[in-house]
Amino acid sequence: REPILDVRHLKKYFPVAAGVVHAVDDVTFTIEKGKTLGVVGESGCGKSTLGRTILHLQESTAGQIFFEGQDITHVNRKELSQLRRKMQIIFQDPFSSLNPRMSLYQSIAEPLRIMTDAGEEEIKQRVYETMKIVGLAERYVNTYPHELDGGRRQRIGIARALIINPSFIVCDEPVSALDVSIQAQILNLMRDIQDERQLTYIFVTHDLSVVKYISDDIMVMYLGQTVEKAASNELFEYRLHPYTKALLSAVPLPDIDHEKKHIELKGEITSPINPKPGCRFAPRCPYAADVCFRTTPAHEEVRPNHFVSCHRVRELNGL
Ligand code: SF4
Ligand code: MG
Repeated sequence: REPILDVRHLKKYFPVAAGVVHAVDDVTFTIEKGKTLGVVGESGCGKSTLGRTILHLQESTAGQIFFEGQDITHVNRKELSQLRRKMQIIFQDPFSSLNPRMSLYQSIAEPLRIMTDAGEEEIKQRVYETMKIVGLAERYVNTYPHELDGGRRQRIGIARALIINPSFIVCDEPVSALDVSIQAQILNLMRDIQDERQLTYIFVTHDLSVVKYISDDIMVMYLGQTVEKAASNELFEYRLHPYTKALLSAVPLPDIDHEKKHIELKGEITSPINPKPGCRFAPRCPYAADVCFRTTPAHEEVRPNHFVSCHRVRELNGL
């Protein structure tokens, strides 16, 4: 099957006073239509930047992005506005992404007003239709964000993304700011909507229970690079990269567990500014050998459709 999204050797670098931040550093993957790619890693690993770069919320430094068969690496303003109708984002914190002076109706209607020439009647009809889809009762139509709880505010965020009928959505930690009791409701809603509309998601999160629940495939990122990538079941069953093992060992597996986890890794994630050659996990890796500090490991397929970037992956896993 044709992938809906095909990202090749994508890089996003930011110049800062101390050097160059390698926020996304040579990331390659594809997603099939209707699937969810979970992108997981600690804060600062580049997962949000990856999502934002694909959406052209910031421009890539190098690499290529193909969407629905078209090269969208570089787009002009007209192409970008067409792309916006197909590619949307749901943000982590609906409170800061919603305009506090807009009513629920105005908020949900806004993308239609900006991106289409729909008339008032059509807007009204589609706002009510979308409210129903995301489970917002009509009685909230004239309320403002401060009058609503986090779950309802995130439903507005989802409605704003959905109302223009996109085919692809980057979900950037969409449940991380919500009460644990609300998280499952929102995740289920997002899954139902995906099934109905054949939507494709990139689901960015640091929460492994969430990523396990929502993803078809999972990509683990560390300091701007992919360390491991596989189907969700495969990854949880055969975690092969030392970093993935450390991350996943912190998760009690049965279903969705809402406890905050501690990742027991020694040392902090090192700086993404002017990274040194070699494996970026080496300073924290219990298995680091000399070669790990000298040479960047290749991203290799070590089991069918299971990719790992580690010099010692075969030896350490008896492959
Ligand atoms: Fe650890 Fe070396 Fe593998 Fe990096 S390449 S994860 S340092 S063993
Ligand atoms: Mg983030």
